[in-house]
Amino acid sequence: MSSNGSTSSASAKLPVYLDNHATTPLDPRVLEAMMPFLTSKFGNAASNSHPFGWEAAGAVEAARRQIAAAIGASAQEIVFTSGATESDNLALKGVVDAFCEKGNHVITAVSEHKAILDSCKYLEKHGCHITWLPVQADGRIDLGRLKDSFTDRTILVSIMAANNETGVLQPVEEIGALCRERGVLFHSDAVQALGKIPLDVKRAHLDLASLTAHKLYGPKGCGALYVRNDPSVRLAPMIHGGGHEHGLRSGTLNVPGIVGFGKACEIAQQNLSEESRRLAGLRDRLRDRLLAGLDQVVINGSMEHRLPGNLNMSFLHVEGETLLTGLHDVALSSGSACSSGKTEASHVLKALGLSDEAAGCAIRFGIGRFNTEAEIDYVAGRVIELVKSLREVSALS
Ligand SMILES: *Cc1c(COP(=O)(O)O)cnc(C)c1O
Repeated sequence: MSSNGSTSSASAKLPVYLDNHATTPLDPRVLEAMMPFLTSKFGNAASNSHPFGWEAAGAVEAARRQIAAAIGASAQEIVFTSGATESDNLALKGVVDAFCEKGNHVITAVSEHKAILDSCKYLEKHGCHITWLPVQADGRIDLGRLKDSFTDRTILVSIMAANNETGVLQPVEEIGALCRERGVLFHSDAVQALGKIPLDVKRAHLDLASLTAHKLYGPKGCGALYVRNDPSVRLAPMIHGGGHEHGLRSGTLNVPGIVGFGKACEIAQQNLSEESRRLAGLRDRLRDRLLAGLDQVVINGSMEHRLPGNLNMSFLHVEGETLLTGLHDVALSSGSACSSGKTEASHVLKALGLSDEAAGCAIRFGIGRFNTEAEIDYVAGRVIELVKSLREVSALS
């Protein structure tokens, strides 16, 4: 097989990484910002009696401001965690624990990330009532159904900003307004939205939001929970110890990770509109080529309310897993990356109303900052070629 894209003059360096919803490569500028804190500036941010500690604490506070600025929050509203899985757990369990007197009803949606779904299942086992909102065929929740789900025992609504499989954006500002009207807390898993689309916690009336560095060209193992301050959201900690992060999350801070997270937010914020236009252009180019080259292709989820770098498509009569195996020089995902160990049809695609079969034919394309037009053309060419040949084989059998 030629290493050049057959449909492009510029060559794509192989393998092509097109799985940017699972994780993103570290931006070299982020690494550069982190490097001193992995080497000479190794202090513990909690050491307040010497310059090593002061230097680390200063860097952490600067990063807190950068992250807060990216979501319209203030620095003291950012609580550092080990990633968004922990942030989701802290938000849900922390609110339920702190508000058990007031109520025990939580509203979420069936298309959420596993970190939300499994935390809610845990809470359900411990006496919480969970409303699992369905989503419409375009992947968005129905605001009327949300309105009808509130009870006088409702304490929290948790709805993600952008879906990690389909890229579908939820109407967070409208959801936030409904929650605020009723005095119910609103949490959003905003991992995929951060640095990709404008996100303002004040406009969306968010009380809590989960963030992670490694989905926006920062390091793995470093995340944050935005916790609204004025008036402050009551939250019970899940990890007890030295009382770091206002007692909400004990444990020595990951200083290099936090510095990288801050830098990643700053870069994303500075280039948001330009980068999102570029990614949407690449995404539309990929979509148009695939639609022109193949029939029996379905786009999953709303095209209008969607992350710029996301495309999720079902190539009917071709098993997604088989397609991925054939595309060994392209990194893609056939379902949720977090559950791709098992080959179950994606819960997100089934929530859109797809049959097991149509969901099994789905491929997620996640386009990111470092992808080029030549790579997109290469991938489009390879997918078209392979889908055609797999369909021929199955037609013969
Ligand atoms: C990746 C992801 C998470 C988990 O984040 P980690 O930092 O890897 O724990 C949670 N929610 C969504 C929507 C994600 O895409």
